[in-house]
Amino acid sequence: MTLRVFSASIFTETNTFSPLPTSLDSFRAGILFQGPAEAAPPLKVLGSPWHAWRDACEQAQLEYQQGLIAFAEPAGLMTRSAHHWLREQLLSDLSNAGPIDIVLLAIHGSMMSTECDDIEGDLLQRVRSQVGDQAAIGVLIDPHAHLTEKMVRHASVLAAFHEWPHDDVEERALHVLDVATRVANKSASPTPAVFDCHMVAAYPTRREPMRSFIDSIKAQEHDGAILSASLIHGFPWGNHPETGAKALVWTDGDNELAQQTAREIGARLFELREATTLHMDFGIEEALDHVEQASTGPIVLCDAGDNVPGGGAGDATFLLRRTLERGVGGVCFGPIWDPMATRMCFDAGEGETVALRIGGKSGPGSGDPVDVNATVLNLSRKQDDPQSARFGDRAWVRIETGIDLVLHQERATLTDPGVLTRLGIQLGQYKAIVGKMLMHGGAAFAPLASEVRTVATPGALNMNYAALELTRKQRPWWPKDLDFSLPG
Ligand SMILES: [Zn+2]
Repeated sequence: MTLRVFSASIFTETNTFSPLPTSLDSFRAGILFQGPAEAAPPLKVLGSPWHAWRDACEQAQLEYQQGLIAFAEPAGLMTRSAHHWLREQLLSDLSNAGPIDIVLLAIHGSMMSTECDDIEGDLLQRVRSQVGDQAAIGVLIDPHAHLTEKMVRHASVLAAFHEWPHDDVEERALHVLDVATRVANKSASPTPAVFDCHMVAAYPTRREPMRSFIDSIKAQEHDGAILSASLIHGFPWGNHPETGAKALVWTDGDNELAQQTAREIGARLFELREATTLHMDFGIEEALDHVEQASTGPIVLCDAGDNVPGGGAGDATFLLRRTLERGVGGVCFGPIWDPMATRMCFDAGEGETVALRIGGKSGPGSGDPVDVNATVLNLSRKQDDPQSARFGDRAWVRIETGIDLVLHQERATLTDPGVLTRLGIQLGQYKAIVGKMLMHGGAAFAPLASEVRTVATPGALNMNYAALELTRKQRPWWPKDLDFSLPG
C-alpha cells in the first residue's frame, strides 16, 4: 500500500519583548502559500523542508500533498485572528487531503499568541485528533523553542535542527520523514524522554566545545538504539514557563534508555554551560573604542539587541546615537527600518539634504529617534531591485559627520550584503558596518569583513541572560541562579 503523506508549515519566532504584533499581514509579507508543492517558496535563508520532503517522497514512491506554508519575520505575540486563521487553514487543508498516513509539520516551537502560549502544542493536539492514533505525525522544529509536554505527547517524533546558524534544516526534515515512515510502517515505536537543563542562554554550534557536543549527539542518532536526539536550545526572549534548554531523545520503545540518554545529554550541556554560551564581544562604548583603534576594516558589528531575525524591530538607535555623540566617522549603519524617513528621502530626491528623525519609533525598547541633517546619495524603489524587494524602498544617506545610513520601508532580515552594495555602497571604504543581525547575518558578512564582532545593545534581545525578565519561568535557572545542582 502506498503511504499518503501531507505536509504543512506555520513558522515564526515569537519574541515577547518585541512590541510588534505578528498579524496575518506579517505572514503575507513573508510567506502565505497554498498551492502546488512545486510552486512552494523556500523558508528564506533556512532552505526548504517541504521540497526535501516532496523529493524524498517522490523517490520512495509515497503520495505527497502540500498544505499551508506560512512564515512571518520574527516579532512579538501573534494576533488572535492570525493564529486562528492559520490554524483553521492548515486543519482544513489536512481534512481536504483525505486519509493520511504521515503528517509532516515544520513549526517553529516558540510561537505564542495574545491568548495561546503553546501554538504548536495546541496545533499538534488538533492534528492528532483529526488524523487518529494510527497516523504518524513527524514534527520539525527550530531549537530556539519552548518544548512543552503537549508538543511531545501529540507527535510521533519531534526533532530540532542541530545547527545554529541553521544550515541543516533540510537534512533534519529528512530525518523526521525517515522516523515517521518507520512509524507508519509499524517498524518503530518512538518513546520520548525530555530532560530540563534549567538553563537560559544562546549556543552557537560552529565553535568548540559546542561543535563536538553536537557531533556527539548526531553520532548517538546513528547507533541504532536511539531513533532521534535533539538539543532544544530554548528561546531566551520568550517569557514562557517552558523556555530554556532541554534534551529530547526518542528510542525504539526503550523508556529507560530514553530517560538515561536525555539526562546524559542535558547534564553534559549543564557542565559545559560557561563554555558553550554565546557572550557578546563588546558593549556599545567598547565597540566604538575598538572601531576607533582599528587599523584595518571593515569591522562588522552585529547590533544584537535589535537582531531582526530574533524579533528586534530593526529601528533601535542606541549604537547610532553614541556613534554620533562620540564623533566616530567612517561607519555605515544599515539597513535601519524607518518607513517615514525613507519616504522623506524619496520626496526630497537624490542630491538633496533633508532633516530626518531616524529610528526609535516602534517603542521605548528602540530608544529615542535621532535627528540629523542628511544628504540623499541614492534611492532604490522596491521594484528596481527584486533581490532586495523584502526591504521595500531603500535610501542611502550621508550625515555630515561621515556616517552613512541605509533606511528602508519594510521590516526584513539582513542576510545579504547586496542589500547595501546594490545601492552603490562600497563596503570596503568603511571602518565599520553595523547591521541588525547576529548569527546568520554575521556569517553572511564575514567574507568581506576584517572581523565580525557582536555588540550587546538594549532592545528586544537582551543578551545579558541573567537580567531577562522571565517572570513565568520557575527558578532555579542558570545564569540567573548560579548555585544549584540539576535534579536527578
Ligand atoms: Zn532558531
